[in-house]
Amino acid sequence: MTQCNDCSQEMREADSCSQNALIFEREGRFPLVYMRNSTYFDDNERCHDCGIVNKPGNVHHAGCDMERCPLCGCQLISCGCCADNIPVTVVFMPVHALGVGT
Ligand SMILES: [Zn+2]
Ligand SMILES: [Zn+2]
Ligand SMILES: [Zn+2]
Repeated sequence: MTQCNDCSQEMREADSCSQNALIFEREGRFPLVYMRNSTYFDDNERCHDCGIVNKPGNVHHAGCDMERCPLCGCQLISCGCCADNIPVTVVFMPVHALGVGT
């Protein structure tokens, strides 16, 4: 039994993480807001790592090794983000808290 740190749902039971936006907080710059990647999945019915249902529109729980970085397209947990060599802090947020999308 493992709870997602970001949506507080039980990882093996939730169909998708409910935090669907990423904020890249960058030192000395405006933060960047991106929708989380919801198109990259493994071949199983549920994600082998975080347990979400693999279908377009669902997003992995934070820290899943299948999640791709919207900035550089690499594995999010290892990229860091390398896109323009700026140290970033990644914050997971539900979109409705940002006032965009649904
Ligand atoms: Zn989650
Ligand atoms: Zn996953
Ligand atoms: Zn990246």
